[in-house]
Amino acid sequence: MLTGNRPDPGLPKEVMMFARPLHRAVLLIVLVGLSLAAHAYEGPLFDAHLHYNPAHADTVAPDGVGPALAGAGIRRAVILARDDELIEAAMRAAPGGIVPFLDVYRPPADKGGWMHDSDLPERMRARLDAGLETGDWRGIGELHLFAEDRHSPVFEALLVMAHERGLPLMIHGDPAVIDRAYEIEPEAVVLWAHAGTFPHPDLIGDYLGRYPNLHADLSMRSERLTGDGFMPLEWQDLLIAHADRFLVGVDTFSATRWREIDAHAEAIRTWLGHLPGDVAARIAFGNAERLFGGGDL
Ligand SMILES: [Zn+2]
Repeated sequence: MLTGNRPDPGLPKEVMMFARPLHRAVLLIVLVGLSLAAHAYEGPLFDAHLHYNPAHADTVAPDGVGPALAGAGIRRAVILARDDELIEAAMRAAPGGIVPFLDVYRPPADKGGWMHDSDLPERMRARLDAGLETGDWRGIGELHLFAEDRHSPVFEALLVMAHERGLPLMIHGDPAVIDRAYEIEPEAVVLWAHAGTFPHPDLIGDYLGRYPNLHADLSMRSERLTGDGFMPLEWQDLLIAHADRFLVGVDTFSATRWREIDAHAEAIRTWLGHLPGDVAARIAFGNAERLFGGGDL
C-alpha cells in the first residue's frame, strides 16, 4: 500500500519517483485516464443520423462520403438527403453502405414551416414512388416538430405514408409529438432524434416503455453521456435497460461537422466503452442493422 513518504519497495523503479502523495495522486489520474482510453469501444459503428446536402458537398465530394465514413470507423450509415442527385452519387461511390432517408425540406431548410405546407404530402408521395436510381428510399426525416404543431394534418399524412410503406420516420421533437404520433399510428416505427428535446433519462425510459416501436438516436449527446469522464449512472441504467432501442449518430448538420467526423465518432466510442460489451455492440451497430439492414462500405 502507498502510505507516508517512504517509497514502497514492491513498486517498479519507474513508479518510485511518484512516491510522494501529490505525485501519487497524479499517477493515479494518469492511470485512470489510460484505462478509460484503453477501453473505448473498438467495433464498427452504424451511424443512424447523418445529413448530406448541397451545403456539404464542397467539403466532402459525393465520392468522398464513403471514405470519410470508413475513415471514422463508420461501416454503414443512414443519410438524410434533400438532393437526389447528390445522394445517388454518394451511393454509387459507396455501394451498399448508405441507407437513404427522404428529407422533406426544400432549401433553404423549411424547418419552421413544412408542417403548414399542404402540398408537401403529395410531393413526397411522388418522390417515394419514383425512388432513386440506386434503389428505394428507406425512411423519412428528419422532421422538426414541437408540441404546438403536433396536430398538423401534414405531419399526420407523412406519418401514415411512412407507416403504410414500412418506412421509419425520424422526428426531432417534444414528448407531446411522440404521443401524437402513436395516437395516429400505434404501430409506427419512430426514430426520436437526439433522444428527444428534453434528454432526461427518466422521461426517455418512460416513453420507451410506453411505445415498443420507438427508438432513439444519441447524436449530439456525447458530452452528456461522458459526464466528468464517466457515464452518469442514470444514463448507464437507461441504456442497459433498453439496450435494443438506442442508436448512435454524428449528425453532420454542417460542413464543420463533416470535417470533424473522426473526432465525433471517437467521442461516441469513448462513452460506448463505459457500457457492457454486448450493450455497446447493440447500440453501436446491431440495433441499426436490425432496423435498416444494408451492406458494408
Ligand atoms: Zn439532424
